Amino acid sequence: MTEPTSSTDQPSFQKSSTVLGACPHDCPDTCALITTVEHGVAVRVQGNPAHRHTDGALCTKVSRYTERTYHPERLLQPLKRVGPKGSGRFEPVGWDAALDDIAARLTTIAARDPQAIQPYSYAGTMGLVQGEGMAARFFHRLGAAHLERTICASAGAEGLMNTLGGKVGMKVEHFAQAKLIVIWGSNSIASNLHFWRLAQQAKRDGARLVCIDPRRSETAEKCHEHIALRPGTDAALALALMHELVQHDWLDHDYIEQHTEGWALLRERALQWPPERAAAVCGVPVQQITDLARAYGTTQPAAIRLNYGMQRVRGGGNAVRAVACLPALVGAWRHPAGGLLLSASGHFPVQRAALHRPDLLAGRTPRTINMSTIGNDLLRPASPGFGPQIEALIVYNSNPVAVAPESGKVVQGFARDDLFTVVLEHFQTDTADYADYILPATTQLEHWDIHASYGHTDVLLNRPAIAPLGQARTNTDIFRALAARMGFDDPCFADDDLQLCRTAFGDAVSFETLLEHGHATLPLPDAPFAHGGFPTASGRCTFFSPRLAAQGQDGLPDHLPNFETAGSSPHYPLAMISPPARNFLNSTFVNVKSLRDMEGEPLLEMHADDAGARGIQSGHLVRVFNDRGEYRCKVKVSPRARPGVVNGLGVWWRKLGPSGTNVNELTSQKLTDMGHGPVFYDCLVEVASLSA
Ligand code: SF4
Repeated sequence: MTEPTSSTDQPSFQKSSTVLGACPHDCPDTCALITTVEHGVAVRVQGNPAHRHTDGALCTKVSRYTERTYHPERLLQPLKRVGPKGSGRFEPVGWDAALDDIAARLTTIAARDPQAIQPYSYAGTMGLVQGEGMAARFFHRLGAAHLERTICASAGAEGLMNTLGGKVGMKVEHFAQAKLIVIWGSNSIASNLHFWRLAQQAKRDGARLVCIDPRRSETAEKCHEHIALRPGTDAALALALMHELVQHDWLDHDYIEQHTEGWALLRERALQWPPERAAAVCGVPVQQITDLARAYGTTQPAAIRLNYGMQRVRGGGNAVRAVACLPALVGAWRHPAGGLLLSASGHFPVQRAALHRPDLLAGRTPRTINMSTIGNDLLRPASPGFGPQIEALIVYNSNPVAVAPESGKVVQGFARDDLFTVVLEHFQTDTADYADYILPATTQLEHWDIHASYGHTDVLLNRPAIAPLGQARTNTDIFRALAARMGFDDPCFADDDLQLCRTAFGDAVSFETLLEHGHATLPLPDAPFAHGGFPTASGRCTFFSPRLAAQGQDGLPDHLPNFETAGSSPHYPLAMISPPARNFLNSTFVNVKSLRDMEGEPLLEMHADDAGARGIQSGHLVRVFNDRGEYRCKVKVSPRARPGVVNGLGVWWRKLGPSGTNVNELTSQKLTDMGHGPVFYDCLVEVASLSA
């Protein structure tokens, strides 16, 4: 590899070179990249074969990264709004003029109350530096409102926290040696490709693969068994599995005794869930439940790959808790290839205080706004309970107008004339259309960053491969420049990006190894919980959570029916889930033509029985609607949808859909039982043809 040795942010340029990097996208695989650069131009992005988890392969999306980087619509200069909000009409403006005006506007608002300034960001990059590295310092020093970052995973995170003590689990590489793999709520082929390769290896070696998902996804159809349960019924299924483990004594009594707490209570709860009861709730045959229980209770090592889709419902936290109890019951944690993985991110020793500098708050405790209710909160007036009206919004690494629930309200909020909005972006997204200023940001090929992962346990370093395109600037540089203009002269604002990369893990990870190889493996045991040692207060897997009980909640996992349970509404008889389209990642890549061409157009998958009852055929333009709004798209009559459930594949940019809307026009701002997360998959709709 040709590697820059300078400690500045600039890459070195030779005639032809290769540069080590990391994929920044919201995907558990966190691949190691090799970018080939010729005469300062990135010509190819490939997977690094020397990184065992990447194994030289990237998904289709990131294989086309140069197409995205050099996209003709890439934002290359700052823009200032000249038309009405949402019109998308902007004119170029110089950096100094833009930053001076933004700093002046923020200073004026902060003089009244800095909590009226709202940062809004998520996982547009997973990088610890270009994510919150400098942004958090800036907003802490300013005293801006906090953002509760809930939009994807917070219910599951809380579920794990209340059961295993953190976002921890088995090491992904060992799935290849499992004899039973339960893929629960995940279309791994689309969203966890490198895990799927391990599952395939296990399958070749005789493992049984079971997929639990309302949708017959690409992954489900390649497993030995597919359990197509109703959305939001996963906890009922998990409790029925426990029932069978008890009834047949497929239990590891010694592991339960030594390394868990609350078994007597959980046992009692499980016995309330015979398979017949769960089958009626889940809408699946009793036999599927009893067969899975037998397989899980009698096969070792047994591994569960849980993903976040199933926790986007009212009872999402409870559902994750119920599933996360299973491995301890059968002693699966004893084996490297047994246990469960939802997220590995809790294993990483990120030095958050050193990176984010909460000490800059200097004793202030700003209010917190939940990103999943931004639609409601942008429309709230000032009040003693709420605090000041939101007057300014700084959006980076996120596209809330497309991805936040109940987008009718989100759009109404962003359209407020008295809201000052700044968007740091690569492209003119649905959100950027509502900005007062759009600031062009660098992509992963143009900046330094450092990455943890939620799907494996390696740290990755990303080097800049090319110079920033046009006038694009790094997120860190933009926040540094604003800090300087606002008189924030604390020394931490002078840290360059390489220093921030070093700070992210401090001495806990060898930076020399990262510089040399691009990745470094955390020193973790192969079976981290073989002898208990969970990061809970007691060190045990907490079936009964004292923490939840202290909050006045049920200390045991249970099935909580959806807010919008299938069959509960005469007007909206169909449940809708909105899993990701295979070639998009949230709303990223929707504007990359070759990927959009593969997806075709916004689609709703519908079972033949539901389509037939409504006179709908494949290719019909339909209206999908409920009390919150209406979304138009084409229908595909498909066995991928189970009866009574439609799959609205997302997340399309609103302006690229047939009526300027997307599936989030229909989703609600209600929140999950734990973690205050959104309930995207807890949504009833009706569908009518517009093609008849
Ligand atoms: S999106 Fe996921 S699979 Fe694709 S390159 Fe990035 S980390 Fe790898």
